[in-house]
Formats: sequence, C-alpha cells, structure tokens
Amino acid sequence: MTFIQINALGNQPGDRATRDPEQSPEGPNSTTPLPMDVAKRNAELVEEWADQLYDADAQTILEWAAEHAPGKIAVTLSMENTVLAELASKYLPESDFLFLDTGYHFKETLEVAQQVDQRYPQELVTALPLLSRPEQDSVYGKNLYQNNPTACCRMRKVEPLAVNLSPYAGWVTGLRRVDGPTRAQAPALSLDATGRLKISPIITWSLEDTENYIEQQQLIIHPLTKQGYPSIGCETCTLPVAEGEDPRAGRWAGSNKTECGLH
Ligand code: SF4
Repeated sequence: MTFIQINALGNQPGDRATRDPEQSPEGPNSTTPLPMDVAKRNAELVEEWADQLYDADAQTILEWAAEHAPGKIAVTLSMENTVLAELASKYLPESDFLFLDTGYHFKETLEVAQQVDQRYPQELVTALPLLSRPEQDSVYGKNLYQNNPTACCRMRKVEPLAVNLSPYAGWVTGLRRVDGPTRAQAPALSLDATGRLKISPIITWSLEDTENYIEQQQLIIHPLTKQGYPSIGCETCTLPVAEGEDPRAGRWAGSNKTECGLH
C-alpha cells in the first residue's frame, strides 16, 4: 500500500509550498481609496438613483452613467460574450475595457479578447495576477485551484481587479439576476466596498435576451458557448453542462464554490 503525505496546505511532497494561501504574495492587492469628493458624490448618486434604475434597460443605465459618474468607468469583460463591450461602445464610449487574465483561461477566451481589442476603440486594460502560474505553483504548491480555489480566485481575480479599479470612479459588470439565486435581487446600481459605482446594465436580461442581442448585433462569438459552455471561467475550473441544466453548474463543478468572489 502506498501512503501519500499531504501537508496542512493540501500539497504533496515535492510541491514545495512555502506560503499559506491565506496570505497573498507581497505587492499591491487592493484599490486606492477614492478622493473624498468622488466617494461622497457616488454615495449620493446611489441614494438618489438606485431604485429608479433597478429595472431600467441597458441603454438607460449606461447613458445615466455617462451623464452622472464623477470620473472614468471601467467595463469588466469576461469574454464569455461581448455584449458589454458593444453596449459600452454605443452608450458609454469614454469607458475603458478591463479583462482579468488569470493565466488559466481557455485559449478561445484569449482569442476573443484579441478580437475585442481590434473591434472596439476603447482601451483594453489587462489585469494580471502578481504571480505567474509557475511562480504560484512554487510558492503555494501545485494545483492551488483544486486545493484552495477560493485563495486562487482571490489572488488571480479579486485582487487584480481591485488593484486595476484604482483609477476609476466606478465599474460596469455583466451581472444578470437570472444567473442564480445569489444574484436574484442584485441591484443595477450600488456602491462596491471601496465606494465606487457598481453598474450592471444587463441585470434584467434573460439568457434569451443575451443570445438575441449577440445575434442581432453580430457580436464576436466565444466558440465554447456553442459547445456546451454557457458560462465560461478558467479552463481548469469550467466544465460543459447538459441542455437545460443550470448554466453555471459547470463552474467549480464538484465543489460547493459558486462564485469567484468578485460580486
Ligand atoms: S477559476 Fe479556478 S483557476 Fe481561475 S482563478 Fe479561480 S480557482 Fe484559480
């Protein structure tokens, strides 16, 4: 019988983990505080407008942001689809696009990111984790995404997003209420933990609305969405789902994790 020793961090001998995954690498990992006047204005805007925008359409929400936001807005793109890129190019043209490159994406996702960069005039900011994949393996042990996906998402998504949101007064998300019970009551406009505006223009959209818009506007298609992947995250943590199954069932399948921590 062979015994495999696994240490307290969930790593096997030879994985050479040297750091507790609860401790992020040294380096920037949070958002710079907003100037006081911008934070105050954001809070006033949410107080005044959140209820009115709760069920508003995407154009109304983005035009509202273009008119009222007290600073530049970042539009976060997962590249699963490019609906937000198209909407922002029409109704929030002064925004930047922001893509979290975790280092674990499908190659198709990176190809969509390249196409977005070519198709739209907005600057595409790519947010990178502090550590490359080999560096993360060396410091935290191999396959952190299996041993501690929450820590992996924190270091490769949540913290890079936080750092890269620093120049912005707010950010646009692709949240939809249909995406799951944790999102069923999500607002179209709120404040994030740093006081920035969190704006979700397709919050009321169904999957069908999204597909219709992609078709009508002839948007860039992520090829895996036609191969059983209605929700696409990192390659290591995303499986295809069966017809009629919860679209997010393939995300961290086999674990009780359902969110990456961004929302
Ligand atoms: S989805 Fe998986 S690989 Fe990607 S950051 Fe989260 S745990 Fe890591």
